[in-house]
Amino acid sequence: MHLGLFDNWTCALEPTRLLSPSSPSVALPVKIKSPTLHTLYAFLVMSISSACAAAPVAIAIHGGAGTIERSQISAAQEKAIRADLERAAKAGYAVLQQGGSSVDASVAAVVILEDSPYFNAGKGSVFNANGVNEMDAAIMDGAKRSAGAIAGVHRVRNPILLARKVMQNSNHVMLTGTGAETFARQQGIKFMPDRYFYTEARWQQLLDARKLERLQPRAALPAKSYFGTVGAVALDQQGGLAAATSTGGMTNKRFGRVGDAPVIGAGTYADRRCAVSATGHGEFFIRSVVAHDICARVAYRGDSIKKAAESVILDELKVIGGEGGVIAMDSQGSVSMPFNSSGMYRASIDTAGVLVVEIYE
Ligand code: ASP
Repeated sequence: MHLGLFDNWTCALEPTRLLSPSSPSVALPVKIKSPTLHTLYAFLVMSISSACAAAPVAIAIHGGAGTIERSQISAAQEKAIRADLERAAKAGYAVLQQGGSSVDASVAAVVILEDSPYFNAGKGSVFNANGVNEMDAAIMDGAKRSAGAIAGVHRVRNPILLARKVMQNSNHVMLTGTGAETFARQQGIKFMPDRYFYTEARWQQLLDARKLERLQPRAALPAKSYFGTVGAVALDQQGGLAAATSTGGMTNKRFGRVGDAPVIGAGTYADRRCAVSATGHGEFFIRSVVAHDICARVAYRGDSIKKAAESVILDELKVIGGEGGVIAMDSQGSVSMPFNSSGMYRASIDTAGVLVVEIYE
């Protein structure tokens, strides 16, 4: 149900606080002598209350899927990763609670994950074959069906902020490489020096990948070298859904390789009924048009978000050898987070306000 006249500002005030906890219909915070006015005022407050209660908000985020083994992560690292996931989910949820849009909420969450060294996006991005961080990102506003994406950018601190600028301030959907960087400068997007993006773990992954390539030139990349992409899906008080995804792509990638994250419909998609952000081996997600396939199942077949997301990730994608997962949300705020790898960093805060942070199956 949409609030119409009572949108945003009234819900942001949390009108239930205006009511007396003991007897809401009698003890109003304002003393009104006329019985008619009193009844009218009580009715107004109660209506706002129930309208706001009927506008659920929810958020789900991911920090990448892949081979995540307990033995490879120290207890301290796991604690830090969980803390960053929780911080990101709470930041996005706070935006939603204050009446902010699903676009702003998913951006707020993704920015935190991009700034964390633990995820393959922004600061923690993997290195390409030339030892450079090359990032992709996309955002889609499901209510407006507008989208913005960037691919192959260097030194942009928060690629998701640039993707949002493309969506809101350009006539285009996707900008790449130097063109995207020129646009970023015009839009006042923050750049960082190369050393900001250096992390020991990602550099080691590149050295490992190079070694493997020398031994077996066409070997598949070990799964642990590509997990880490980040993403968010959110539902706001106006019933609007959004999806956002940001990544450094795959370790040792070359020739300007672009993954699924910035490809609308593959790694990122949102419409009125459904929002999806993906993570995993991008080539497979592009070929399966994963995010749109999930939302199409919801739209055309009336599948639940759970059934749609699970069929695509656990059946369709797996059959062709694609490894990874998605976070998916429907217009009621129901969340599904299936993955066919051994783990996926993920968190959600559902419509009841319950926070869940998980890594393994
Ligand atoms: N999907 C990303 C890509 O292929 C990688 C990831 O999710 O870790 O670029």
